[in-house]
Amino acid sequence: MPGVISRPAPRVRARTPVAATAARSVDTTVRFESFGAVAYVGRRDDFFALDRAHADLLRRLAVGARPVRAAEAARVRALAALGICVTDPPTPPRPNQGRSVLGRLGELPPLTRPLLVNCFSTAHCPLRCVYCHADDLMIPYRDTERAREVDAVDRTATLIPALVAVVTGGDPIVAPVRAAQLIDRLSRHKRVVLDTSGAGDVDPLLPALRRAGAHVRVSVDSADRRVHDRARPINTRYLPRGTSAFDAAHATLRRLAEADVPCSVQTVVGRHNEDGDALRRLRDDLLDRGVRYWVLHAAVPAGKAERRPAVLPGPDVLDRLRELVAECVAAGLPLDIRVTGTHSAPRSVLLIDSRGQLCVQRADGPGKQVVWTPDQRPDPARMRQRLDACVDWPGHASRYLNGPLTPVPAG
Ligand code: SF4
Repeated sequence: MPGVISRPAPRVRARTPVAATAARSVDTTVRFESFGAVAYVGRRDDFFALDRAHADLLRRLAVGARPVRAAEAARVRALAALGICVTDPPTPPRPNQGRSVLGRLGELPPLTRPLLVNCFSTAHCPLRCVYCHADDLMIPYRDTERAREVDAVDRTATLIPALVAVVTGGDPIVAPVRAAQLIDRLSRHKRVVLDTSGAGDVDPLLPALRRAGAHVRVSVDSADRRVHDRARPINTRYLPRGTSAFDAAHATLRRLAEADVPCSVQTVVGRHNEDGDALRRLRDDLLDRGVRYWVLHAAVPAGKAERRPAVLPGPDVLDRLRELVAECVAAGLPLDIRVTGTHSAPRSVLLIDSRGQLCVQRADGPGKQVVWTPDQRPDPARMRQRLDACVDWPGHASRYLNGPLTPVPAG
């Protein structure tokens, strides 16, 4: 995220210069697939599914800058506008506000390997969010948390063929030593994202974040401090009474911008903020603060929200979010938006708890199902079988490839 800047004017259509040379961006990680490829761009924390024509082009670009032929100019432009490749002269960037699919795939591609796995670095958290999806993986674990569990989390993550590992919890910001260890370990085999409420001091994590080239997601639920702080109250076991989670989140965003660590904002949409005008005010506030990447998660009936359904959004929440995104597209706002709607696909999220157990949401009732324990023989083939048996692959693709939004035009 750039530094805090004044709100930009809507995008003005400028003539795109014709690229003379192109190369795959060093910030892009690619996995080739039967349908083409999946590319992950760290600065924007976005996955894109590519058809075969775009994937073949990216394979050719991997060897370094090369001249762009006339026949491939449109595909180069499409890849470069999303940061997947870089061109000379530079191609103007564009925000992604649609399904993250490039070329002629049309539908979401069939995945057989995960894109992302969430890894708990700690079960402790400075907040007590009213909808917390993970409290069943935190509260029973807190008093017995041990340093060596970081090894167990990494051991299980190593067996999962995902491109990205999200260091989460609990909140890594309250246990920076464990979080930094986990970032270092995971970055040996995956791209790393840090998930935080921002309610703490991010400075101790900056060296590990820089070493890993990691992206940071900070949670902000409202432009209104009172709404945010009511939905995300602090836990006085970790923070002084009177601390505002809202102020702390924005202080962390400013600190990350100063340190030039790529970051984005994520918002859980529930009963507290699902109103269209409230979301528009949040969008405008984020733009005013220089935020360029925004993820909206419809709150899911998991963890605490499973026991308190009154905090969940209404059944038309995805329609409201689509409407909001359509307005951003029409106005040409420079805000990349991803929308997840996992309430209809609970088994689409992979979670490694802070003891190294791989869990998915149960299909047959409340709570999580443990599908792998870290004391098992490290057998990748056996792990693949367990994933195939437990993961909702179309739901997984939808969550990380902006499935609820409309497809982008074929490039
Ligand atoms: S910050 Fe995340 S883990 Fe902590 S209480 Fe809120 S939702 Fe739960």
